[in-house]
Amino acid sequence: MVFAHDTDMTLMHAAALANTGPALGADDREELPDLASLVAWMDRWEWTGRRPRTEAEVDAVRRLRPRLREIWTRDEEGLVAAANALLEEGRALPRLVQHGDYGWHVHATSDDAPLARRTAVEVGMALIDVIRAGETGRLKVCAGDDCEDLLVDLSRNRSRKFCDGTCGTRANVAAYRARRSRDAGIR
Ligand SMILES: [Zn+2]
Ligand SMILES: [Zn+2]
Repeated sequence: MVFAHDTDMTLMHAAALANTGPALGADDREELPDLASLVAWMDRWEWTGRRPRTEAEVDAVRRLRPRLREIWTRDEEGLVAAANALLEEGRALPRLVQHGDYGWHVHATSDDAPLARRTAVEVGMALIDVIRAGETGRLKVCAGDDCEDLLVDLSRNRSRKFCDGTCGTRANVAAYRARRSRDAGIR
């Protein structure tokens, strides 16, 4: 655990959410095509509180994705501005709560707020931790060829380069092949 558990989860959720939509370079990925998919997403990420009821709410979540992608690439000063903006826009009001198996953690919006707003405020809160810890370098974009997926590097030595998708596997295979052909060359 690099940050508090809820901060780790928030950052992983934000990266995964951004990755459900097209990258800045634009592809046609859409993993949140409708209301049902967003409800399933919330279940998967163990969100408490209200589920979306309208297409407009799904749209708001989709619109948050390019913003998250852009935020991820900012330097420290830019992240400070992003955190403050997200918290102000979402009218964050932090309070300590406890539910399920989670210990005390912070919610800064009402559980009835739409998911886009809850996510935006959570990210703002998480950025506070990241910035105060001097760990902004952990917000990364995948180093894979033709991949712009976001990731959070929660590794001990900050060595993670690839997204959760196929990029890590592909890079391992390429490194293995390179090693093998190099070894073959030596013999
Ligand atoms: Zn909670
Ligand atoms: Zn990738």
